[in-house]
Amino acid sequence: MDFTVDERTRDYAARASAFLTTAVLPAEPVFAAQTAGRVGADPADPALWTRPPIVHELAAEARARGLWNLFLPAPHGPLTVGQYAPIAELSGRSPHLAPAAMNCSAPDTGNMELLQLAADDRQRERWLTPLLEGTLRSAFCMTEPAVASSDALNMRTTIRPDGASVVLDGTKWWSTGALAPECGLLIVLGVSDPQAAPRERMTMVCVPRDTPGVRIERALSVFGYHEHAAGGHAVIHFEGVRVPRAAVLGELGAGAQLAQARLGPGRVHHCMRAIGMAQRAVEQMAERAWQRETFGELLADQGVVQQWCGQSQVELDAARLLVQHAAWLMDSAGNRAAHRAIQQIKVLVPGTVQTILDRAIQLFGAAGVDDALPWASMFTAVRTLRIADGPDEVHLRSLGRAVLRSARPD
Ligand SMILES: Cc1cc2nc3c(=O)[nH]c(=O)nc-3n(C[C@H](O)[C@H](O)[C@H](O)COP(=O)(O)OP(=O)(O)OC[C@H]3O[C@@H](n4cnc5c(N)ncnc54)[C@H](O)[C@@H]3O)c2cc1C
Repeated sequence: MDFTVDERTRDYAARASAFLTTAVLPAEPVFAAQTAGRVGADPADPALWTRPPIVHELAAEARARGLWNLFLPAPHGPLTVGQYAPIAELSGRSPHLAPAAMNCSAPDTGNMELLQLAADDRQRERWLTPLLEGTLRSAFCMTEPAVASSDALNMRTTIRPDGASVVLDGTKWWSTGALAPECGLLIVLGVSDPQAAPRERMTMVCVPRDTPGVRIERALSVFGYHEHAAGGHAVIHFEGVRVPRAAVLGELGAGAQLAQARLGPGRVHHCMRAIGMAQRAVEQMAERAWQRETFGELLADQGVVQQWCGQSQVELDAARLLVQHAAWLMDSAGNRAAHRAIQQIKVLVPGTVQTILDRAIQLFGAAGVDDALPWASMFTAVRTLRIADGPDEVHLRSLGRAVLRSARPD
């Protein structure tokens, strides 16, 4: 399928495709070699969590090719959400390398969009400019170990106004990227006024990671992967952390609204990249099927393999179209109007891609579960997408209620 419908999209997609095939895919073994020695989860060892040199080399290359910060929707970047979709998909084919090289990886992208939306001039200069330059990294601290964080109103971390300051107390976890030595910014969501109406209780604050009282306790793992080069996932304690009021993003009480605004585009980008993983899997399943023979027959001649390939292609194309639809709605009617469409792809895409990757693993046999091939780490990554940024059930509950409301008798 060719979604590169207009001149600009075709141009960027051609450049991204060339970058992928000539620079990124050949660099995958280099990335593996440069990160191979990283074992363990010592949060105090910066060498474990930094990006390896190959990512910086590819970043210079991506920048020279004009493939930098493309996630920022027009008018802030050169592309609309729909035009960015095929680029993000291409980057998803090499998820550990391409998004980072193009300064298009989560959680920095979501944080940059948030700052673009809500930061004042000083916050922009201090945080947004270096993030856009790729000289700073950041984390987003919302989820808490003590409460069911699917429901943002459960948050217990407090952000207490105190004169010209606000003071933070609480524990966050799954703060992706926070262990990277380049991570200087933690964007924290907490309760600033427990008595206020539910949607006005929370505030978001920009906290420099080296502020006294910020303590990283440990690193978490995803199916045993510590995701070192992505800066890991941290448990972070905030104990009497004092920052100026000027560090508040937007205004006191605007946290819940900002969290919602941040998560929408981030969910779409995750889906676009996941489509790229599945596309790569389908192509390589087909190649593999012509290379292996069992019981006198090529795998390509086995009916079950033909079913896997056909079914995967159908599911992949359907999922991609739904992502395109959500992107089109965001461009034409705005993120709020696209809310339900984004929920739909957030449920459909990770589950679909997980199934396709599962078939790829099966087709490759034992080789499929080894890290020399990308399927195992891709599989775990899309599996977590069914939980992160809101579990499937929460989106389905909201979608289901909307369906039911439309038929409710008076
Ligand atoms: C790899 C990874 C990266 C992450 N990165 C970040 C990050 O950078 N920053 C951050 O703040 N958080 C991050 N998270 C956390 C993630 O957003 C939360 O895990 C998610 O919001 C769910 O919250 P919870 O884990 O507390 O699950 P809970 O709220 O405890 O829910 C557990 C389960 O209950 C079920 N459930 C919940 N509500 C309902 C309902 N209404 N109806 C039916 N079933 C329901 C669902 O099956 C759900 O999976 C990350 C998580 C992962 C795995």
